[in-house]
Amino acid sequence: MEYLERGDEARELARLEEMLGLLGTPSLLALRVQKGLHEEQSARREPRDQVTHPATVKIIEDENRIKNAEVRPRLREVGDPALDGDPEARGERAAGGERRLVAIEQRHRPAERGGEHAVAPAARGDVEHPHPGANPVSVPAEPGAGLGERRAGGHGHGRSSRRAGLDRLSGAPADLLVIGGGITGAGVARDAAMRGLRTVLIERGDLAAGTSSRSSRLVHGGLRYLEQRRLGLVFEALRERRTLQRIAPHLVRPLEFVFPLHEDDRLPPWKLAAGLVAYDLLAQFRNVGRPRILGKRRLLEAEPMLRDRGLAGGASYYDAQCDDARLVVATARSAIDHGALVSTYTAVRALALRDGRVSGAEVEDVRTGARGIVEAGVVVNATGPWGDAVRRLEDPAAAPLLRPTKGTHVVVERERIGHRHAITFLSPLDGRVMFVLPWGDLSYIGTTDTDYAGSADDVRATESDIVYLLRSVNARFPGARLALDDVRATWAGLRPLLAGGGSESSVSREHAILEGPKGMITVAGGKLTTYRSMAAEIVDRAAARLGRGRTRPATDRDPLPGGEASDLETFRERGHGLGLPAATVTHILSHYGTESAGIFNLGTNDRAMLEPLHPAHPAVQGEVVHAARRELAQTVADVLVRRVHLFYETRDHGVRCAPRVAALLGREHGWSAERIAEEVAAYVGFVGRESAAPA
Ligand SMILES: Cc1cc2nc3c(=O)[nH]c(=O)nc-3n(C[C@H](O)[C@H](O)[C@H](O)COP(=O)(O)OP(=O)(O)OC[C@H]3O[C@@H](n4cnc5c(N)ncnc54)[C@H](O)[C@@H]3O)c2cc1C
Repeated sequence: MEYLERGDEARELARLEEMLGLLGTPSLLALRVQKGLHEEQSARREPRDQVTHPATVKIIEDENRIKNAEVRPRLREVGDPALDGDPEARGERAAGGERRLVAIEQRHRPAERGGEHAVAPAARGDVEHPHPGANPVSVPAEPGAGLGERRAGGHGHGRSSRRAGLDRLSGAPADLLVIGGGITGAGVARDAAMRGLRTVLIERGDLAAGTSSRSSRLVHGGLRYLEQRRLGLVFEALRERRTLQRIAPHLVRPLEFVFPLHEDDRLPPWKLAAGLVAYDLLAQFRNVGRPRILGKRRLLEAEPMLRDRGLAGGASYYDAQCDDARLVVATARSAIDHGALVSTYTAVRALALRDGRVSGAEVEDVRTGARGIVEAGVVVNATGPWGDAVRRLEDPAAAPLLRPTKGTHVVVERERIGHRHAITFLSPLDGRVMFVLPWGDLSYIGTTDTDYAGSADDVRATESDIVYLLRSVNARFPGARLALDDVRATWAGLRPLLAGGGSESSVSREHAILEGPKGMITVAGGKLTTYRSMAAEIVDRAAARLGRGRTRPATDRDPLPGGEASDLETFRERGHGLGLPAATVTHILSHYGTESAGIFNLGTNDRAMLEPLHPAHPAVQGEVVHAARRELAQTVADVLVRRVHLFYETRDHGVRCAPRVAALLGREHGWSAERIAEEVAAYVGFVGRESAAPA
């Protein structure tokens, strides 16, 4: 049942649609006409000025009691009316005026879930580790020799994923050249390499440097498609959710959500309940838990810090949370493992043409300025928000395909909000669906959705983005009283949404695959959750052009690096046996899955590898070495932002440990003392720019 063929799936979906039709659901009909769950979030349907916020948002104070969503008076004024006399607004919802804090249970750690797979060999702690500088399973030395060949013994043991240099790239022609190392490009490269295509992936920065490390980190079915009766889309996303939990159980973790509704929300609880029944049905009841309808009392038991005044009811349900950047890295590494060459910090500057058709690209190593040509049978443009810019390399007159909108998240200390579960709620400011999501001791709040016309290279949270998010949460968790200086970190990304229209030959709600006048294939749109099935579609197209068969590889069963087993108890015991604190062991297991053994092995050889990187974070020094040897990390930011996340998770954004990280990277990459100092300065500069007071 889990591995349905495509024909079977279509029949299964038809059966579910019929069931939902037979239920005659007032529910679904209601959902359809309901001015629904995420309407304002769809950048395609509404005029742009209806989705802007909060500088322009019309605050309907009486209806939504926005006065309660205030910042603490002692803190920086953010242009809101003064607090009124409402004790809840001051965080004094209980008599006595003390702001209560709620103990937060750490749930859903992947290592705590039961094992559905047999323990892989790596689970015995057998992951080999080369000595510093050694690279036993690196890409073959002769240019291009590794293309399209699965490396002997490549799976499971001693994997070492190195960045390919220009010499290798411009050796033998590739079948497929993928531009862009976000989740889309990594997924395409993996699928293509698994089909035996000679594949090259070019990324101008780090893997996941674009939108793919700036998402809401959810792998979800997309409740909002239910109201449009786009059951096929929800069905697909829910299937992909299951698939990702199977191939990367350490990175994609089930998460329980509570969805409270207040009387002034635009969605009544019964419609939410009906929608969740349909959601569960489309997931074929294969979720960690069933949705539950919650009355006011049960809601407050589940989430005591919720605003109780006006609380109408709600529900709880399950979706999944994912480490987006690490998912990209794992996917790219799997591509390498199947023979692809992946080159980060290498930008496509121009397209190569033969007989008027795109036959490759001119690429530049952005660190050295060296240039070369990569020849390929088919070129795929998977550059997300940069998609139109790369299309113009082929056709300078190409009309825009994308209409990007910006989404911002803010990170705060979790105990300030006091939520126990992930929270879905409707912003009382404008009715948009928002999330408060747990991330260890922190929470992130997202997201905004505003039109964006600036450069895709410089997307930042603005003060109005932040204020909008904080005020929305303060309205529903009045004890939080979040203010600007409570924000630990922010991130903002561009949704590569389709502008609509155009001549795309394959369009779904979320992505389009089209071929340019000189043959480059561009993919636009998409989302993290469905990247794998989207990649299969793209590679089908490329394979047809190359005259290859359409047999799809087992991308849904072949585990990503670290995902070989979901029961990680053996690893936990090993970590404890090494005398590591429980928090450190949990951190390592949730980042590396079965590859935790690699980190532990480093520590066995050199105890310093198990020393903390930073006094306020569980990460250890061996992770830097692992990131350099196996995860294509080239810079301090690659490590601290996208591999171990200290940028988001420590107050100083990891600056304190930047010299140590640079020294460890320097040892791996052979840097001089001068280069190490430059890398530290570059990171400090990056943090300064990113954490500068938002405009
Ligand atoms: C705020 C927000 C929240 C989201 N939340 C979710 C969610 O919870 N769940 C979900 O499923 N989806 C979510 N999404 C959608 C999802 O994140 C994106 O659809 C996805 O990450 C896009 O990936 P991509 O690979 O297409 O683009 P990107 O990740 O942007 O990758 C494109 C890459 O191309 C590179 N590039 C550009 N030009 C060149 C060049 N000339 N040469 C070489 N490389 C180049 C860039 O450096 C970049 O790394 C969210 C999106 C946003 C903005």
